[in-house]
Amino acid sequence: MRGMHDGQIRSVVVLGGGTAGWLAAAYLAASARASGSEITITVIEAPDIPTVGVGEGTWPTLRATLQAIGIAEADFIRACDATFKQGSRFDGWVDGTVGDSYLHPFSPPPQGDASGLLAAWRSGDLSFGAAMTPQHAVCAAGLAPRQPGMPDYAGALNYAYHFDATKFAVLLASHASDCLGVRHIADRVTAVIPAECGDIAALVTAEHGEITGDMFIDCSGQSALLIGQHYGVQWVDRSDVLFNDRALALQVRTLPGCEIASQTVGTAHRAGWIWDIALPERRGIGCVYSSRFLDDDAARAILIDHIAKAVPGVDPALLEPRRLLFPTGYRGELWHRNCLAIGQAAGFIEPLEASAIVMIELSLRALAENFPRRRSTVPFLAERFNTLFHYRWERVIEFLKLHYVLSQRSEPYWQAHRDPATVPARLAAQLGLWRDQPPSIWDFMQIDEVFPAASQQFVLYGMGFAVPPGLQPRPDTQHQLAEIARRGRALTTSLPTNRAYADRLRAVTPCQGQA
Ligand SMILES: Cc1cc2nc3c(=O)[nH]c(=O)nc-3n(C[C@H](O)[C@H](O)[C@H](O)COP(=O)(O)OP(=O)(O)OC[C@H]3O[C@@H](n4cnc5c(N)ncnc54)[C@H](O)[C@@H]3O)c2cc1C
Repeated sequence: MRGMHDGQIRSVVVLGGGTAGWLAAAYLAASARASGSEITITVIEAPDIPTVGVGEGTWPTLRATLQAIGIAEADFIRACDATFKQGSRFDGWVDGTVGDSYLHPFSPPPQGDASGLLAAWRSGDLSFGAAMTPQHAVCAAGLAPRQPGMPDYAGALNYAYHFDATKFAVLLASHASDCLGVRHIADRVTAVIPAECGDIAALVTAEHGEITGDMFIDCSGQSALLIGQHYGVQWVDRSDVLFNDRALALQVRTLPGCEIASQTVGTAHRAGWIWDIALPERRGIGCVYSSRFLDDDAARAILIDHIAKAVPGVDPALLEPRRLLFPTGYRGELWHRNCLAIGQAAGFIEPLEASAIVMIELSLRALAENFPRRRSTVPFLAERFNTLFHYRWERVIEFLKLHYVLSQRSEPYWQAHRDPATVPARLAAQLGLWRDQPPSIWDFMQIDEVFPAASQQFVLYGMGFAVPPGLQPRPDTQHQLAEIARRGRALTTSLPTNRAYADRLRAVTPCQGQA
């Protein structure tokens, strides 16, 4: 035990060097630099404990995060083999028949009167996504959301990225160490030294002795060394709502010059779904499933069969997937005393809709913009943070459950998902409300909702949820839809393909790019 710890917070220790750890270190260091505060940041990362190494789909928030950290967009794209992601396409989720497919794009429907737009859309024959945003046409044509000459992180449409997760952590680590003054200790943490007051005083490492700090960010992944093992903070298990607990992941080489998809594709199967993420030279493909409904061999067979059909030129006999097990839930307190958990240490929900990295980013923003200068402000800030993130984790869970509840598939796994006992009460109440009125800002009132009303609408009406009766188009709504169609035509004739964008960027060396 160490003495009572109070006073100013000047040093932050980040435990873990995965996506969460390096994003935390880089973001906090950049933010401290921008605000002129003198905080030292240290990352401790065990070289012999691997990172999870998956997590290739992101959310549009990443653009602002990278900009805040000070990484140029072209450098990021080149270093991480990144491609543009403009949303998620869901194949086979409604009933599994041929043509069962809808898009959840990042560009929302026009602002304003959702009821009028819904009424106007219902009188036409386009899908909801195709009618509501030009992004649908752009994705269908495999196009990029921006021109190469546009300013960094600006686009004609809203977008995020797909990338190589391992390369992303390497880029962040070198940028944080070389440009932002982050100290990097490659060592294993073996023990935690508590202060008398109950805070963490220091972490003991195998070869670098004790590393003291004023605040500790637990990014140690599923082991949750500080928030879980040291503090024993309660785990809120939500596997009763979302059943998937395993994934088989593969990286599959693609043929040179092949098309690069503009969206993540999630294809439903009898007890889960398959993700497909296209990078310039490979695709990340994985089968997510529930071990209650599917064994590993059957999941492997589903995955290999999918790849054999979906990826030209692949020899299925050579594929050896990596198995990942994951829990579903989050910590009852994400911030406890002087320890804040971020990433998998904080919680994990299956990767449908790629919500993990965006939760990391939102946590960092909330911390950086309210960074405790003095220890005495921590209880208030921690309680506020915990309330906000409890709200966020629950909204993510409900949004993912929405994809399952609306399905009409008949296999036991899908039927079990529709059992009312597994549907969160708030989601059930909202579904009742949405029979009478479309999802609106009243249902999702936070400024930074991960899945705002627009996202709910894309899933609801993409999956065939009935439009509330009696809605009337307004005079200007047909005009709005015609304008979306016109913009879609204009963009599809002007934007480059993802392939052309990627090849052009990769052909230019960084120096040429800057010239
Ligand atoms: C199948 C699957 C698919 C996913 N897909 C997506 C996706 O598309 N989009 C998305 O946003 N997210 C996705 N995720 C989640 C995403 O991969 C993770 O949330 C993200 O990588 C953050 O992981 P992490 O940094 O918290 O943990 P990890 O990557 O596990 O890193 C943990 C770090 O802690 C270190 N560590 C552990 N113990 C010690 C110790 N004793 N001493 C020192 N260091 C230690 C390790 O060395 C490592 O550096 C997916 C996850 C899974 C399982």
